[in-house]
Amino acid sequence: MELQNCEIKNGENFTALYFGELQNLDRFTFKPSGLPELEGKVFLNQWLELTSCEISFNKLPAKKSIPFYHKHQRNEEIYIFLKGNGEFQVDDKIIPISEGVVIRVAPDGVRTFRNTSDEELYFIVIQARANTYEGNTIQDGIGIDKRVSWVNKERL
Ligand code: ZN
Repeated sequence: MELQNCEIKNGENFTALYFGELQNLDRFTFKPSGLPELEGKVFLNQWLELTSCEISFNKLPAKKSIPFYHKHQRNEEIYIFLKGNGEFQVDDKIIPISEGVVIRVAPDGVRTFRNTSDEELYFIVIQARANTYEGNTIQDGIGIDKRVSWVNKERL
């Protein structure tokens, strides 16, 4: 997979993706099967080798609408809006979107959205298998009995 100006730093237990400024997301396009191509959408799994979810970075130009509805078979989606204004539609409901809005859509939700503003709309979408999450991060985290230090480490 072509990196398209992304840099990757790997270690045994991590992958760091240097993606660049979000305003340059236009260099990516995504073509869903049987649907029109989308500009400014990129899935991160191709670099990060995610094992639990898919994440995409997205930029929707001013006044642009997604020209189709879609739903999912098994995955829920979480849309995290970072900048811009617009409207999100699920089934027959319309939800206003702006910076700081997060929308979770169940697999069966028929969804689309649009940028109603004169500025770009930036958002992240996380897609994960519905009904597989157990517990929470507090229960899953394990404290390590080790004093925090920032010296004598390898800087990548
Ligand atoms: Zn989707």
